[in-house]
Amino acid sequence: MIHDLVIIGGGPAGLAAAIYAGRADLEGFILEKMSPGGQVLITDIVENYPGFPDGITGFELVEKLSEHAKKFGFGVENGEVEAIEQAGENLNIILADERVITTRNVIIATGATHRRLGVKGEERLTGRGVSYCATCDGPFFRDQRVAVVGGGDSAVQEAVFLSRFASKVYLIHRRDELRAVKVLQERAFSNEKIEFIWDSVVEEIEGQDQVKSVRVRNVKTGEVTHLPLDGVFIFIGIEPATNFVRDLIETDEQGFIKTDEWMRTSLKGVYAAGDCRLKPLLQIVTAVAEGATAAFAVEQEMA
Ligand code: NAP
Repeated sequence: MIHDLVIIGGGPAGLAAAIYAGRADLEGFILEKMSPGGQVLITDIVENYPGFPDGITGFELVEKLSEHAKKFGFGVENGEVEAIEQAGENLNIILADERVITTRNVIIATGATHRRLGVKGEERLTGRGVSYCATCDGPFFRDQRVAVVGGGDSAVQEAVFLSRFASKVYLIHRRDELRAVKVLQERAFSNEKIEFIWDSVVEEIEGQDQVKSVRVRNVKTGEVTHLPLDGVFIFIGIEPATNFVRDLIETDEQGFIKTDEWMRTSLKGVYAAGDCRLKPLLQIVTAVAEGATAAFAVEQEMA
């Protein structure tokens, strides 16, 4: 069977694309390697999604989006995509379990994953004090000392979240100015549990079976200190989950997919939406808008 549309990834962009595709009577489904949700699922409270002035939990928002997509007949199938290949006018999606799905159109909405620091101890101590998800692991650090690495929205938002549990939160940033939006900065600056360690980089995460400390170097003075800790949360940005299409369509050097305003990539029939796409604002509100646009573009193309 040749499908109309397969959406790869069930985060907000993929789910919004599914709502629009279903309503437009396109045939197809979402391919998701785990369960729908993406990064939003591990977000405690989403405060800036329009229509929810009191905020909504990431979990609840995903549930509502999934239910909405299902209502319009666009279901979710499990499968991990290894590659996409051109097959004449169509596209073949090759799955890790060797299944091949043939479709006229694909929307890539695979999102992004957390970037690793790449320092000694990070990999070995992941799950033993090193974490990339405050919502998942924060409650384990009640009355303990943690550090957050990074200076963007994620680092600052999660530092504030962690202060609910931890006795002390160090925010280690490589510059002396945060990248995060002002409202988050102000929240962190007025939080008594948060201490900022400026102009500093983590060179090693130390500990045998559990995080015990981090080796921090001040990039201005060269001074090296060992900061005793129970946990390290790393929020230094994201990497697009696009390895499987880097040879097929145009991306930037980091792998973010280039599209036009219809979300069309450099290959006919292949669209991209959400955090895997090259764009200025990575938010749920932009992801859903792009998912809708991509589905609309497919509908127009097939009309
Ligand atoms: P980000 O905005 O790219 O910030 C990454 C931070 O990590 C920057 O402060 C950067 O430092 C630092 N960094 C990068 N590489 C590093 C390294 N090797 N060592 C030490 N520090 C390093 O990433 P993000 O905070 O994960 O956010 C990703 C996107 O999601 C953004 O567009 C953000 O706006 C969005 N987001 C929004 C919200 C919200 O609206 N509430 C929440 C979370 C995320 P420099 O500043 O020096 O470059």
